[in-house]
Amino acid sequence: MRRALALAEKGLFTTTPNPRVGCVITSGESVVGEGWHEKAGGPHAEAVALKAAGDSARGASVYVNLEPCSHYGRTPPCAGALINAKVARVVAALRDPNPQAARGGDALAAAGIGFEHGLLEAQARELNLGFLSRVQRGRPWVRLKIAATLDGRSALANGASQWITGPEARRDGHRWRARACALLTGIGTVAADDPRLTVREVDTPRQPLRVIVDSRLEIPHAAQVLQGPKVLIFAARAAPAPQNAEVVVLPNAHGKVELPRMLEELARRGVNELHVEAGFRLNGSLVREGCVDEFLVYLNPSFLGDGAQGMLELPPVGALEERLKLKLLSLDRLGDDLRILARPA
Ligand SMILES: [Zn+2]
Repeated sequence: MRRALALAEKGLFTTTPNPRVGCVITSGESVVGEGWHEKAGGPHAEAVALKAAGDSARGASVYVNLEPCSHYGRTPPCAGALINAKVARVVAALRDPNPQAARGGDALAAAGIGFEHGLLEAQARELNLGFLSRVQRGRPWVRLKIAATLDGRSALANGASQWITGPEARRDGHRWRARACALLTGIGTVAADDPRLTVREVDTPRQPLRVIVDSRLEIPHAAQVLQGPKVLIFAARAAPAPQNAEVVVLPNAHGKVELPRMLEELARRGVNELHVEAGFRLNGSLVREGCVDEFLVYLNPSFLGDGAQGMLELPPVGALEERLKLKLLSLDRLGDDLRILARPA
Protein backbone atom coordinates (compact mmCIF):
# COMPACT_ATOMS: atom_id res chain seq x y z
CA MET A 1 0.00 0.00 0.00
CA ARG A 2 2.94 2.30 0.66
CA ARG A 3 4.04 1.68 -2.93
CA ALA A 4 0.49 2.33 -4.18
CA LEU A 5 0.47 5.67 -2.32
CA ALA A 6 3.87 6.60 -3.78
CA LEU A 7 2.55 5.82 -7.27
CA ALA A 8 -0.61 7.82 -6.60
CA GLU A 9 1.53 10.81 -5.66
CA LYS A 10 2.93 10.91 -9.20
CA GLY A 11 -0.46 12.37 -10.12
CA LEU A 12 -0.14 15.16 -7.51
CA PHE A 13 -0.13 17.95 -10.11
CA THR A 14 -2.32 16.37 -12.79
CA THR A 15 -5.34 14.27 -11.75
CA THR A 16 -7.71 17.14 -10.93
CA PRO A 17 -10.70 16.90 -10.59
CA ASN A 18 -10.10 13.18 -10.08
CA PRO A 19 -8.43 11.70 -7.01
CA ARG A 20 -4.77 10.64 -6.94
CA VAL A 21 -4.75 6.85 -7.16
CA GLY A 22 -2.02 4.22 -7.39
CA CYS A 23 -2.37 0.44 -7.67
CA VAL A 24 0.02 -2.46 -7.05
CA ILE A 25 -0.75 -6.10 -7.99
CA THR A 26 1.19 -8.81 -6.22
CA SER A 27 1.47 -12.55 -6.62
CA GLY A 28 3.23 -14.30 -3.75
CA GLU A 29 6.21 -12.11 -2.90
CA SER A 30 6.42 -10.45 -6.32
CA VAL A 31 4.92 -7.32 -7.81
CA VAL A 32 3.38 -8.40 -11.13
CA GLY A 33 1.86 -5.07 -12.16
CA GLU A 34 1.48 -1.49 -11.01
CA GLY A 35 0.05 1.76 -12.27
CA TRP A 36 -1.24 5.20 -11.37
CA HIS A 37 -3.89 7.57 -12.63
CA GLU A 38 -2.38 10.47 -14.53
CA LYS A 39 -5.30 12.64 -15.59
CA ALA A 40 -9.07 12.80 -16.03
CA GLY A 41 -10.15 10.87 -19.11
CA GLY A 42 -7.05 8.68 -18.95
CA PRO A 43 -7.07 5.08 -17.63
CA HIS A 44 -7.58 4.50 -13.91
CA ALA A 45 -4.69 3.11 -11.85
CA GLU A 46 -6.27 -0.36 -11.63
CA ALA A 47 -6.62 -0.57 -15.43
CA VAL A 48 -2.95 0.36 -15.94
CA ALA A 49 -1.81 -2.18 -13.34
CA LEU A 50 -4.04 -4.95 -14.73
CA LYS A 51 -2.68 -4.34 -18.21
CA ALA A 52 0.89 -4.56 -16.91
CA ALA A 53 0.11 -7.76 -14.97
CA GLY A 54 -1.62 -9.53 -17.87
CA ASP A 55 -2.41 -13.18 -17.04
CA SER A 56 -0.45 -12.90 -13.77
CA ALA A 57 -3.40 -10.99 -12.28
CA ARG A 58 -5.34 -14.24 -11.90
CA GLY A 59 -5.33 -15.19 -8.22
CA ALA A 60 -3.29 -12.08 -7.32
CA SER A 61 -3.68 -9.50 -4.53
CA VAL A 62 -4.45 -5.90 -5.48
CA TYR A 63 -3.52 -2.87 -3.35
CA VAL A 64 -5.14 0.44 -4.22
CA ASN A 65 -5.43 3.62 -2.13
CA LEU A 66 -9.08 4.23 -3.09
CA GLU A 67 -11.91 1.73 -3.45
CA PRO A 68 -12.20 0.64 -7.11
CA CYS A 69 -14.99 2.43 -8.95
CA SER A 70 -18.19 0.61 -9.90
CA HIS A 71 -19.78 3.08 -12.32
CA TYR A 72 -19.42 3.91 -15.98
CA GLY A 73 -17.77 7.33 -16.01
CA ARG A 74 -15.35 8.34 -18.71
CA THR A 75 -13.81 4.86 -18.43
CA PRO A 76 -15.38 1.42 -17.66
CA PRO A 77 -15.67 0.45 -13.98
CA CYS A 78 -12.53 -0.95 -12.38
CA ALA A 79 -14.47 -3.34 -10.14
CA GLY A 80 -15.70 -5.14 -13.27
CA ALA A 81 -12.19 -5.27 -14.74
CA LEU A 82 -10.83 -6.78 -11.51
CA ILE A 83 -13.63 -9.38 -11.47
CA ASN A 84 -12.92 -10.28 -15.12
CA ALA A 85 -9.21 -10.61 -14.36
CA LYS A 86 -10.12 -13.10 -11.57
CA VAL A 87 -7.95 -11.51 -8.90
CA ALA A 88 -8.25 -13.16 -5.48
CA ARG A 89 -8.18 -10.19 -3.13
CA VAL A 90 -8.47 -6.40 -3.22
CA VAL A 91 -7.21 -4.17 -0.39
CA ALA A 92 -8.25 -0.50 -0.46
CA ALA A 93 -6.94 2.21 1.86
CA LEU A 94 -10.12 4.29 1.66
CA ARG A 95 -13.70 3.61 0.66
CA ASP A 96 -14.86 5.83 -2.18
CA PRO A 97 -16.89 8.79 -0.83
CA ASN A 98 -18.34 9.55 -4.27
CA PRO A 99 -21.94 8.27 -4.31
CA GLN A 100 -21.80 7.64 -8.07
CA ALA A 101 -18.59 5.62 -7.93
CA ALA A 102 -19.09 3.93 -4.57
CA ARG A 103 -19.60 0.31 -3.71
CA GLY A 104 -17.02 -1.20 -6.01
CA GLY A 105 -15.96 -3.19 -2.96
CA ASP A 106 -19.47 -4.63 -2.59
CA ALA A 107 -19.43 -5.66 -6.26
CA LEU A 108 -16.08 -7.39 -5.73
CA ALA A 109 -17.29 -9.19 -2.60
CA ALA A 110 -20.48 -10.30 -4.40
CA ALA A 111 -18.24 -11.84 -7.08
CA GLY A 112 -16.38 -13.85 -4.45
CA ILE A 113 -13.28 -11.62 -4.32
CA GLY A 114 -11.92 -10.79 -0.87
CA PHE A 115 -12.35 -7.04 -0.23
CA GLU A 116 -10.76 -5.22 2.69
CA HIS A 117 -10.27 -1.54 3.44
CA GLY A 118 -8.61 0.70 6.01
CA LEU A 119 -4.91 -0.06 5.39
CA LEU A 120 -2.89 3.22 5.71
CA GLU A 121 -6.20 5.05 5.65
CA ALA A 122 -4.88 8.22 7.32
CA GLN A 123 -2.11 8.66 4.74
CA ALA A 124 -4.57 7.97 1.92
CA ARG A 125 -6.91 10.59 3.33
CA GLU A 126 -4.13 13.20 3.42
CA LEU A 127 -3.17 12.58 -0.21
CA ASN A 128 -6.74 13.15 -1.42
CA LEU A 129 -8.02 15.63 1.16
CA GLY A 130 -9.15 17.99 -1.59
CA PHE A 131 -11.11 15.36 -3.48
CA LEU A 132 -12.67 14.11 -0.24
CA SER A 133 -13.57 17.66 0.80
CA ARG A 134 -15.26 18.40 -2.52
CA VAL A 135 -17.23 15.15 -2.61
CA GLN A 136 -18.15 15.01 1.09
CA ARG A 137 -18.54 18.73 1.98
CA GLY A 138 -19.28 20.30 -1.41
CA ARG A 139 -16.35 22.72 -1.05
CA PRO A 140 -12.64 22.58 -1.81
CA TRP A 141 -9.91 22.04 0.78
CA VAL A 142 -8.70 25.61 1.35
CA ARG A 143 -5.02 26.17 2.07
CA LEU A 144 -4.03 29.71 3.05
CA LYS A 145 -0.41 30.57 2.30
CA ILE A 146 1.18 33.45 4.17
CA ALA A 147 4.77 34.71 3.99
CA ALA A 148 5.63 36.92 6.95
CA THR A 149 8.35 38.31 9.12
CA LEU A 150 8.92 37.07 12.67
CA ASP A 151 6.65 39.83 13.97
CA GLY A 152 3.84 38.50 11.79
CA ARG A 153 3.98 41.23 9.13
CA SER A 154 3.04 40.08 5.64
CA ALA A 155 3.37 43.29 3.61
CA LEU A 156 4.38 46.93 3.78
CA ALA A 157 1.70 49.45 4.70
CA ASN A 158 1.13 49.98 0.94
CA GLY A 159 0.48 46.26 0.44
CA ALA A 160 3.78 45.38 -1.30
CA SER A 161 4.78 41.85 -0.28
CA GLN A 162 7.32 40.74 -2.92
CA TRP A 163 9.55 39.28 -1.57
CA ILE A 164 9.61 38.63 2.15
CA THR A 165 11.01 35.08 1.99
CA GLY A 166 14.03 33.61 0.20
CA PRO A 167 14.31 31.52 -2.98
CA GLU A 168 13.93 28.09 -1.32
CA ALA A 169 10.68 29.11 0.35
CA ARG A 170 9.41 30.63 -2.88
CA ARG A 171 10.15 27.44 -4.83
CA ASP A 172 8.41 25.41 -2.14
CA GLY A 173 5.43 27.76 -2.36
CA HIS A 174 5.21 27.08 -6.10
CA ARG A 175 5.14 23.34 -5.43
CA TRP A 176 2.08 23.88 -3.21
CA ARG A 177 0.57 26.05 -5.95
CA ALA A 178 1.17 23.31 -8.53
CA ARG A 179 -0.79 20.68 -6.59
CA ALA A 180 -3.80 22.99 -6.23
CA CYS A 181 -6.66 22.99 -8.71
CA ALA A 182 -7.09 26.75 -8.36
CA LEU A 183 -5.13 29.75 -7.02
CA LEU A 184 -7.02 32.59 -5.38
CA THR A 185 -6.08 36.16 -4.57
CA GLY A 186 -7.86 39.44 -3.93
CA ILE A 187 -8.00 42.76 -5.73
CA GLY A 188 -5.76 44.31 -3.04
CA THR A 189 -2.88 42.00 -3.94
CA VAL A 190 -3.49 42.50 -7.67
CA ALA A 191 -3.25 46.28 -7.14
CA ALA A 192 -0.17 46.11 -4.89
CA ASP A 193 1.93 43.33 -6.49
CA ASP A 194 0.41 42.75 -9.97
CA PRO A 195 1.02 38.98 -9.66
CA ARG A 196 0.70 36.54 -12.58
CA LEU A 197 -0.67 33.86 -10.25
CA THR A 198 0.99 31.02 -12.15
CA VAL A 199 3.24 28.08 -11.27
CA ARG A 200 6.76 28.89 -12.44
CA GLU A 201 9.42 27.44 -10.17
CA VAL A 202 8.53 23.75 -10.59
CA ASP A 203 7.82 21.64 -13.67
CA THR A 204 4.13 21.08 -14.18
CA PRO A 205 2.15 20.14 -17.28
CA ARG A 206 -0.90 21.98 -15.93
CA GLN A 207 -1.55 25.50 -14.63
CA PRO A 208 -4.21 25.87 -11.93
CA LEU A 209 -7.33 27.94 -12.58
CA ARG A 210 -6.75 31.55 -11.44
CA VAL A 211 -9.44 33.11 -9.26
CA ILE A 212 -9.77 36.70 -8.04
CA VAL A 213 -12.07 38.17 -5.42
CA ASP A 214 -12.89 41.66 -6.65
CA SER A 215 -16.17 42.84 -5.09
CA ARG A 216 -16.46 46.08 -7.08
CA LEU A 217 -14.78 44.80 -10.26
CA GLU A 218 -11.93 47.26 -10.04
CA ILE A 219 -9.27 45.10 -11.67
CA PRO A 220 -7.10 47.16 -14.04
CA HIS A 221 -7.31 45.98 -17.65
CA ALA A 222 -3.52 45.87 -17.84
CA ALA A 223 -3.21 43.52 -14.82
CA GLN A 224 -0.78 40.68 -15.55
CA VAL A 225 -3.22 38.12 -14.17
CA LEU A 226 -5.56 38.87 -17.11
CA GLN A 227 -2.94 37.50 -19.52
CA GLY A 228 -3.05 33.83 -20.55
CA PRO A 229 -5.92 31.39 -19.88
CA LYS A 230 -9.27 32.77 -18.79
CA VAL A 231 -9.49 34.06 -15.21
CA LEU A 232 -12.47 33.60 -12.88
CA ILE A 233 -13.52 36.72 -10.96
CA PHE A 234 -15.98 36.71 -8.07
CA ALA A 235 -17.70 40.07 -7.66
CA ALA A 236 -20.49 41.50 -5.53
CA ARG A 237 -22.14 43.49 -8.31
CA ALA A 238 -22.77 42.97 -11.98
CA ALA A 239 -20.58 44.82 -14.44
CA PRO A 240 -19.10 44.03 -17.85
CA ALA A 241 -16.41 41.33 -17.56
CA PRO A 242 -12.85 42.44 -18.35
CA GLN A 243 -11.17 40.83 -21.37
CA ASN A 244 -10.19 37.23 -20.71
CA ALA A 245 -12.27 36.91 -17.55
CA GLU A 246 -15.50 35.27 -16.47
CA VAL A 247 -17.37 37.08 -13.72
CA VAL A 248 -19.57 35.32 -11.15
CA VAL A 249 -21.67 37.68 -9.03
CA LEU A 250 -22.25 36.42 -5.47
CA PRO A 251 -23.01 39.38 -3.16
CA ASN A 252 -23.48 39.12 0.59
CA ALA A 253 -25.42 41.58 2.79
CA HIS A 254 -22.35 43.83 3.20
CA GLY A 255 -21.66 44.38 -0.50
CA LYS A 256 -18.77 41.89 -0.46
CA VAL A 257 -18.44 38.49 -2.08
CA GLU A 258 -20.26 35.69 -0.22
CA LEU A 259 -17.18 33.56 0.39
CA PRO A 260 -18.81 30.25 1.47
CA ARG A 261 -20.96 30.32 -1.68
CA MET A 262 -17.85 31.07 -3.73
CA LEU A 263 -16.35 27.84 -2.35
CA GLU A 264 -19.48 25.92 -3.33
CA GLU A 265 -19.24 27.34 -6.85
CA LEU A 266 -15.56 26.35 -7.09
CA ALA A 267 -16.39 22.82 -5.93
CA ARG A 268 -19.13 22.65 -8.56
CA ARG A 269 -16.43 23.45 -11.11
CA GLY A 270 -14.30 20.53 -9.89
CA VAL A 271 -11.84 22.37 -7.63
CA ASN A 272 -10.45 19.94 -5.02
CA GLU A 273 -7.66 22.03 -3.47
CA LEU A 274 -7.80 25.82 -3.40
CA HIS A 275 -4.53 27.65 -2.70
CA VAL A 276 -4.96 31.20 -1.39
CA GLU A 277 -2.29 33.92 -1.54
CA ALA A 278 -4.01 37.12 -0.58
CA GLY A 279 -3.61 40.18 1.62
CA PHE A 280 -4.54 40.49 5.28
CA ARG A 281 -8.10 41.69 4.59
CA LEU A 282 -9.22 38.80 2.37
CA ASN A 283 -7.25 36.36 4.56
CA GLY A 284 -9.16 37.67 7.59
CA SER A 285 -12.54 37.44 5.84
CA LEU A 286 -11.85 33.85 4.80
CA VAL A 287 -10.86 32.88 8.35
CA ARG A 288 -13.81 34.71 9.96
CA GLU A 289 -16.24 32.99 7.61
CA GLY A 290 -14.85 29.54 8.40
CA CYS A 291 -13.43 29.04 4.92
CA VAL A 292 -9.83 28.04 5.79
CA ASP A 293 -8.84 24.42 6.39
CA GLU A 294 -5.06 24.76 6.55
CA PHE A 295 -2.40 27.43 7.08
CA LEU A 296 0.88 27.28 5.18
CA VAL A 297 3.04 29.93 6.81
CA TYR A 298 6.59 30.90 5.82
CA LEU A 299 8.44 32.94 8.42
CA ASN A 300 11.48 35.01 7.54
CA PRO A 301 13.91 35.95 10.34
CA SER A 302 13.32 39.69 10.10
CA PHE A 303 11.02 42.36 11.50
CA LEU A 304 8.91 44.96 9.70
CA GLY A 305 7.41 46.69 12.72
CA ASP A 306 3.90 47.74 13.63
CA GLY A 307 3.31 50.04 10.66
CA ALA A 308 3.32 47.08 8.27
CA GLN A 309 0.34 44.83 7.47
CA GLY A 310 -0.37 41.77 9.59
CA MET A 311 -1.31 38.29 8.41
CA LEU A 312 -5.03 38.34 9.13
CA GLU A 313 -7.53 41.06 9.85
CA LEU A 314 -9.43 39.58 12.77
CA PRO A 315 -11.69 41.24 15.34
CA PRO A 316 -10.05 41.81 18.73
CA VAL A 317 -10.59 39.06 21.27
CA GLY A 318 -11.53 39.92 24.84
CA ALA A 319 -9.62 37.11 26.52
CA LEU A 320 -6.59 35.06 25.61
CA GLU A 321 -8.59 31.84 25.72
CA GLU A 322 -10.73 33.14 22.84
CA ARG A 323 -7.83 33.33 20.42
CA LEU A 324 -7.92 31.22 17.27
CA LYS A 325 -5.89 28.13 18.11
CA LEU A 326 -4.18 25.88 15.59
CA LYS A 327 -2.80 22.36 15.61
CA LEU A 328 0.77 22.19 14.35
CA LEU A 329 1.29 19.58 11.60
CA SER A 330 4.89 20.26 10.62
CA LEU A 331 7.77 22.66 11.04
CA ASP A 332 10.62 22.76 8.50
CA ARG A 333 13.55 24.96 7.63
CA LEU A 334 13.90 26.10 3.99
CA GLY A 335 17.08 28.10 3.53
CA ASP A 336 16.80 30.99 5.99
CA ASP A 337 13.04 30.65 6.36
CA LEU A 338 10.76 28.46 8.47
CA ARG A 339 7.71 26.69 7.08
CA ILE A 340 4.79 25.94 9.37
CA LEU A 341 1.84 23.80 8.37
CA ALA A 342 -1.09 24.04 10.77
CA ARG A 343 -4.84 23.49 10.90
CA PRO A 344 -7.58 25.01 13.05
CA ALA A 345 -7.58 23.06 16.32
ZN1 LIG B 1 -11.77 3.14 -11.71
